[in-house]
Amino acid sequence: MLPSGLTLRHVLVVGVDGVRFDLLGPEVTPVIWGFGHDGFLGPVPVDETTPTWSGPCWATIATGHGVDGHGITGNDLTGHRLADHPDFVTVATRAGLPTLLAVSGWPPLALPEDGGPLFAEATRREFVAAAEMSLAGWDAADEAITDLAAGVLAQGGPRLSFVYLGAVDITGHLTGAGAAYRDAARAADRRVGRLLDAVRSRPSYEQESWTIVVVTDHGHLDQGGHGGREPEVATAWAAAAGPGIDPGGPPVITSQDQIAQLVLAALGHPGTSDI
Ligand SMILES: [Zn+2]
Repeated sequence: MLPSGLTLRHVLVVGVDGVRFDLLGPEVTPVIWGFGHDGFLGPVPVDETTPTWSGPCWATIATGHGVDGHGITGNDLTGHRLADHPDFVTVATRAGLPTLLAVSGWPPLALPEDGGPLFAEATRREFVAAAEMSLAGWDAADEAITDLAAGVLAQGGPRLSFVYLGAVDITGHLTGAGAAYRDAARAADRRVGRLLDAVRSRPSYEQESWTIVVVTDHGHLDQGGHGGREPEVATAWAAAAGPGIDPGGPPVITSQDQIAQLVLAALGHPGTSDI
């Protein structure tokens, strides 16, 4: 085993779109809830200057800058200033670290559509489209991207991975925040668990250090939908576990613009220390 100072630092970030904070708990999301025991789990307000749409919220999470920086106010990213404020996957990639971007369902995160991609550079880029605009279509896309990412994480070499699951948000839009929405959150939580299992199954796991972050961008109204400042919409959340994140310690993330810095600091690599 390598001395601890030489362990290779790895980071996995799982983005789960549109999961209300008040949905989290041991029944519906036991894996994410477990971060509260093993590390950190807490509410993260969407900044008052940031519209509670996926585009601006994910841009703030990915770049560490608010709307004033990245310039994204809606789900069409056209006119963004991401070149001045690159996302954390791009920063790590440019620093020479192998990275994985694995996105389900929503093109502008990964593809040159609607002003995207939000994530500009990655060593390996995977996108799985939803075959149809339906719960089943998006659920299948999330399952496929989880299969793919789990395979890479179990054996492969990315030091930083971002995996995005979109089915919970679509379920909120199509059905409201009821039973189907809870079921979608349950499925997303199981997928987070599969990604964690893949990390822990790595032959080299004992010689590595891993920081895991799970994060949402915004919540949903009871009837479905978001974009305003209602508490159930504007209260996002983040979970994190890894070296230096002490259970019961002070919150490590209290605003969405802190996440990129936490991710890059956890990599501990020259060129990724600031954003
Ligand atoms: Zn969203």
